[in-house]
Amino acid sequence: MKQLIKGTLEGVTKVIEVEDGLITDIRDNGTIATVGSELVDTSGTLLPGYIDIHVHGGGGADTMDASEDAFEQIAATHAKHGTTALLLTTITERADHIEKSLTAFRPDRKRDGAEIIGFHLEGPFIHMDKAGAQPKEFIQAPNVELLSRWMKLSGNAIRYITVAPDVNGADELIKACRRMGIIVSAGHSSATFQQAKESFVWGVQSATHLFNAMTGLYHRDPGLVGAVFDSDDIYAELIADKIHVNSAVMKIIFRMKGTDKVMLITDAIRAACMPEGQQYTLGNQIVTVKNGTVRLLDGTIAGSVLTLDKAVKNLLNLGILQKEDVIPVTSANQSRLLNLPFGQIRVGSPANIISIDDGWDVTHTFVRGNLVYRK
Ligand SMILES: [Zn+2]
Repeated sequence: MKQLIKGTLEGVTKVIEVEDGLITDIRDNGTIATVGSELVDTSGTLLPGYIDIHVHGGGGADTMDASEDAFEQIAATHAKHGTTALLLTTITERADHIEKSLTAFRPDRKRDGAEIIGFHLEGPFIHMDKAGAQPKEFIQAPNVELLSRWMKLSGNAIRYITVAPDVNGADELIKACRRMGIIVSAGHSSATFQQAKESFVWGVQSATHLFNAMTGLYHRDPGLVGAVFDSDDIYAELIADKIHVNSAVMKIIFRMKGTDKVMLITDAIRAACMPEGQQYTLGNQIVTVKNGTVRLLDGTIAGSVLTLDKAVKNLLNLGILQKEDVIPVTSANQSRLLNLPFGQIRVGSPANIISIDDGWDVTHTFVRGNLVYRK
């Protein structure tokens, strides 16, 4: 049966026709036959669904739980906040734990939530000095053989990896990732400006949670951040929770990178959309959540409880983003970098669509045309 989604598209009321998950027609309201079709009138503004390329968990579940039930819980939790596609993100952990997660993934499984488009490996090939909340004892030297093995075990589902380009052997690993079709993001890194620039030649295309767990921008030592600012073609992940990056610095990031290179991420952990005031785990570590900030017991910031709808609202309310900038930073840039079929609402695209109200709250989430969330 055909599905019809009604809402406002670029200021005009439209009906979108969906068949087998793909958009087959977009018409003015009243010009499409609704007989024999299922119509959902969202009464809101339609946008391409948000894409989260860096999310560890949510709703009590974590990627490292290594089960389809956990993956489903993460996908369902974030779908309520506008995410229609995500990369399950692993942390630096024992190799066999990472393998368990990679092998638990069933790409064909029907899920009631966001589409899982693969994995983001955050580590273990990172720098000791910039581990942040990644457990240091599991950091490893870059290992092409191990990564190839993981790629195979996952059924080629690793799409993106965070690597420190300044550790020995990173050049070989980064080049191997390019051959395997894995996007490389520099992060958890002590790279100097020069090292970072060199890594962009090897194939690094992005920077992981810009400013966090990397060499910052100093006037005599521009660091990894300086290299990202200096290189127009490099993308940057941003955690726009007003905790990981100060609002003034977020504004500077947009001025330097433009809205066509910033990608909003959540870096959310299992505590996202769960009550505060109790302890949660991140890998084998205990974390606490207070006033929206997640910390290890030693005080280190450890991921977030952010959702993408909140990130968008934060940036709009601060006046850093305009309405028309939302699609690039939540969907189109990610789609371009990762070569995904999302990022716009047009005939032939998968019907991963959300509807928002005037306050930018998500009221409907459609994944491949299926209504997976309704407010
Ligand atoms: Zn992370």
